[in-house]
Amino acid sequence: MKLLVTGGAGYVGSVCAARLVEAGHEVVVLDDLSTGHADAVPDGVRLIEGDINDVIGEVLAEGFDGVLHFAAKSLVGESMQDPAKYWHGNVGTALTLLDAMLEHGTPRLVFSSTAACYGEPDEVPIPETAPTRPTNTYGATKLAIDHAITGYAAAHGLAAVSLRYFNVAGAYGRFGERHATETHLIPIVLQVASGTREKVAMYGDDYPTEDGTCVRDYIHVVDLADAHVKAIGAATAGEHRIYNLGNGFGFTVKQVVEACREVTGHEIPADVAPRRAGDPAVLVASSEKARTELGWKPERVDLAGIVRDAWEFTRSRSQGA
Ligand code: UDP
Repeated sequence: MKLLVTGGAGYVGSVCAARLVEAGHEVVVLDDLSTGHADAVPDGVRLIEGDINDVIGEVLAEGFDGVLHFAAKSLVGESMQDPAKYWHGNVGTALTLLDAMLEHGTPRLVFSSTAACYGEPDEVPIPETAPTRPTNTYGATKLAIDHAITGYAAAHGLAAVSLRYFNVAGAYGRFGERHATETHLIPIVLQVASGTREKVAMYGDDYPTEDGTCVRDYIHVVDLADAHVKAIGAATAGEHRIYNLGNGFGFTVKQVVEACREVTGHEIPADVAPRRAGDPAVLVASSEKARTELGWKPERVDLAGIVRDAWEFTRSRSQGA
């Protein structure tokens, strides 16, 4: 298929673009490089540098079999301070994309959604049927886009799949996580190991979990990317399918820090800090639906292995720099 990957110069988008190329697809990346990096676009993939709102019509007029839409604002804290940036930047842009897809007859969409659509869960592992009550603007914008996609699929025959990610981690060779503003646990802990940060603050140790720190479901970015490859193939006209993507088991913040110590051999000083607002105690995915319907199975479920890949990426970047 000829596929457009929006946000393909970002972390998850670049790994997906690489795996799509390996699966034999023709890939074009559209990215405004506001948070992505031109050198993260895989070899042999054309990069169109531009804002979806300005260029999407012209780009889709070329003719595409589908779009994988990653381009988005994704900082939870910032979304609370500057909601307009998220409502316009995420929802407004997604609507522009959907309208352009209709106009140019682009049949398939895979959308990068999030576990933040669910908010504080009533049951764990979280199935797709769980109530959606996002506790932050970022999650609310992703959920709003999911609702819009449902409507466009039903009314206009769009073949759509939304993938709700839990905690994405790891790297794929030269494709990894490098955000100007880093908020995620594993890259922050690895910054300490690589000497660019002094210590880690563990947000809260009084949660009702085995060691008091929050439990999250860490999924390797390559497993996540492979679910996208399957999803674009499985997308069916007139249907909007939603799948959770996680490993199905959780690790505490302390366990993650310990795994990073083992992998890096660095002592990694870590202090307990106050809770971070809006953090649920436990978020673990039920990915049964993706396993059954997409035939997807995460292969890289070992936490140390996930950390090792992220560490190799971090080290190669700091040596290069
Ligand atoms: N966390 C932490 N210290 C940090 C960053 C994150 O203790 O410097 C915790 C955070 O409170 C959460 C878990 O690590 O319980 C995962 O956070 P992250 O931001 O990586 O992902 P989220 O689950 O918020 O999407």
